Amino acid sequence: MQVLKPGRIQAGHSEEVTCTGNGNGNGGCGALLLISSDDVYETFNSDYTGDTDYYKTFCCVQCGTETDLERYTSRLRTDGKRPSYEERKAIGKKNLERAQ
Ligand SMILES: [Zn+2]
Repeated sequence: MQVLKPGRIQAGHSEEVTCTGNGNGNGGCGALLLISSDDVYETFNSDYTGDTDYYKTFCCVQCGTETDLERYTSRLRTDGKRPSYEERKAIGKKNLERAQ
C-alpha cells in the first residue's frame, strides 16, 4: 500500500480509499490511500443471533486503523493477510511519533 500523491490514477486492480475506520470505531486518520487486493483481507462479525457478516477490510499504513470497504461495491479481492493486533498497534505508535 502507498500513500497517494495527487493526480495518480490507476484502474483495475487498485482502488483509492480513505482511512475512515468504517465498521471499526470510525477512528481513521483520513489518509488517502491506494490499495490493491494484497492489502485487503476478510474479516467477519457474528451477532447474538448467530448471523455472521463478512467484510473486506484494510489496515491503514499511516495509523494502523482498520476500515471496512463496501463489500458489494469494491472490486478488490481479499488476497492480503490481516496484520496482528500488535502490528497494528506498532503502526499507530509510529504515527504518533511522527506527529511530535
Ligand atoms: Zn489511517
